[in-house]
Amino acid sequence: MPVTTSPIVGLLALQGASELHGRSLARLGVQTLEVRTEAELDRVDALVIPGGESTTISKLLEANHLFDPIDRRLTEGMPALGTCAGMILLASRVLDGRPDQRSFGRIDLAVRRNGFGRQIDSFEADLDVEGFEHPLHAVFIRAPVVEEVGPEVEVLARIDGRPVCCRQGPVLVTSFHPELAGDTRLHELFLTTFDADASHRAG
Ligand code: GLN
Repeated sequence: MPVTTSPIVGLLALQGASELHGRSLARLGVQTLEVRTEAELDRVDALVIPGGESTTISKLLEANHLFDPIDRRLTEGMPALGTCAGMILLASRVLDGRPDQRSFGRIDLAVRRNGFGRQIDSFEADLDVEGFEHPLHAVFIRAPVVEEVGPEVEVLARIDGRPVCCRQGPVLVTSFHPELAGDTRLHELFLTTFDADASHRAG
């Protein structure tokens, strides 16, 4: 079989905002594929879990028989970018979740759904992200708050002292929507994780 050199990034497209992630990745020259089935998951090298409603996405993951296959891929080290609801779905502990809501537990964080307060449904901020030369404009929509961070997690950005961008190995999460500000640096950062992984595999 020929060795594929250009990775395909999957966009979990059961519910929520995956389209603009696709556009950001396309601007970076990366091929994407919407993932709604296990067969589609099998074709991708990495996965974006977008914003939306984590309770609904959790239900749809089970209804579409995708929860366990994604869980397996993540255990094998598949890189993943989770934004907002996607952060919740990748976290090890969800506070104020629905009792039947599931998460993959691939980044050691306790996150509180809608934790920035009911009155402040959405807001925007310029963030200093570790390694970025200029601040990143970030859009927060009913965003989760990170309340606890495990020892293996790197915090890459904070707002008022609260972590809003975190990484653990190949898993990168943001409590905001990086795809909404027309800035591709966060996706680029995700791809570096991915490249590191690819060269590791090649070695
Ligand atoms: N509040 C949503 C949830 O709990 C997340 C919001 C978002 O993804 N913009 O899943």
